Amino acid sequence: MNEFVETLLSLTWHEPRSSYDVVIIGGGGHGLATAYYLATRHGITNVAVVEADYIGSGNSGRNTTIIRSNYGIPESIRFYRHSQVLYDRLEDETGCWIMHATKGLIWLAHTESAMRAERARCQLNNAMGVETVLVDPVEIKRLCPQIDLSGGGRYPVLGASYHVPASTARHDRVVWAYAQGAMERGVHVLQQTTVTGLLRDGDRVVGVRTNRGDIAAGTVMSAVGGDVTTIASYAGVRLPVRTHPLQAFVTNGYSQGFGPIVSDTELLCYISQTARGQMLIGHEYDREQSYSRQSSFQFLQANAVKMSYLLPFVRNLRILRQWTGRCDVSADFSPIMGFTGVDGFVITTGWGTWGFKAIPAGGEQMAELIATGRTPEMIAPFALDRFAADHSMADQGSTGTR
Ligand SMILES: Cc1cc2nc3c(=O)[nH]c(=O)nc-3n(C[C@H](O)[C@H](O)[C@H](O)COP(=O)(O)OP(=O)(O)OC[C@H]3O[C@@H](n4cnc5c(N)ncnc54)[C@H](O)[C@@H]3O)c2cc1C
Repeated sequence: MNEFVETLLSLTWHEPRSSYDVVIIGGGGHGLATAYYLATRHGITNVAVVEADYIGSGNSGRNTTIIRSNYGIPESIRFYRHSQVLYDRLEDETGCWIMHATKGLIWLAHTESAMRAERARCQLNNAMGVETVLVDPVEIKRLCPQIDLSGGGRYPVLGASYHVPASTARHDRVVWAYAQGAMERGVHVLQQTTVTGLLRDGDRVVGVRTNRGDIAAGTVMSAVGGDVTTIASYAGVRLPVRTHPLQAFVTNGYSQGFGPIVSDTELLCYISQTARGQMLIGHEYDREQSYSRQSSFQFLQANAVKMSYLLPFVRNLRILRQWTGRCDVSADFSPIMGFTGVDGFVITTGWGTWGFKAIPAGGEQMAELIATGRTPEMIAPFALDRFAADHSMADQGSTGTR
């Protein structure tokens, strides 16, 4: 974090102690939120968050900031809805401005089968108390006047589901809000500290090996988006997880207001406008598995073309920046949270292309699991042992998961 940011926040950096009650590997949103809720909800403050680089340097500072709960299975809808509620309160609770803004999300359909899927989504969302409504092309044009309903003559828009409470928040501010809240209560956040192994006592994990020395811990949690297979291998845990790069880019400012988030699961791309007026565009993850954060021209080319079919004004914009994150994607596209079968070692992973919205609920629930030693009911369906029990939580509920 740079000096300018640090002057706006109340952060106290510490030298590592030799032992903590809880060591969390990964200073992204999930690791820091877990530390924050351990401190605020359970009074557990003898906690270290160990971050290889700077906090928010992983996916939590690279995402496209969309927060929504219009998923396709009840367990996910309930979990992500709860996260939306925690996001709604986060500014009041932490006193940090995270630039949270409700925008609504239009999820476009170009075919009859996509319309059927969106109809089903609306019914299930509403049954679970989540406001998602089916809208026709006239309503879509009212919500987003810039759209070309003919899809450039190639992809006519038949309708959409409109998820009313969808929002965005400034991603690094979310990271800083949780970091500040945790540090104010005594949590140590150790930047530039890389975990290179786990300490074992028989079958139990009892700490972490780092480039700054060993640190003992009562519980070790892995929250290393994009690197979980490495950390889990130190504990001898094999995960049904693949790692894929996910790219995004922003354009220069677009002077007209662009209200909603627009997402297209058939063209596999989505767009929203940032607070600075730039257009922020994302796509599905790269097909090839890789730990690379290399951005590609092919990605820019494919997305720019597709977006210009839907929103012709983007042709007149310039691309300012592109970047890439690494996403851990589970076999059923749902997260994996909880115990691993190895004593003293818990994980939160499988956050793929959709884990920013889950930071508050994921952190809160993992804190409860660590504090009580029991799996909270809300995240029980997302336990690792579901794969051995052949109980899939299959839900490709994101534009980035095809
Ligand atoms: C381009 C892009 C767009 C996205 N868009 C959205 C979106 O719109 N909405 C949404 O909900 N989600 C989105 N996501 C997904 C979301 O960003 C992630 O799921 C989420 O940020 C994961 O958070 P995390 O805390 O688990 O991991 P991260 O934020 O990746 O944090 C993990 C941290 O662990 C650290 N680490 C790794 N190895 C070690 C080690 N050995 N020792 C110590 N530290 C280590 C890393 O340096 C990193 O800082 C997007 C992701 C990308 C890449």
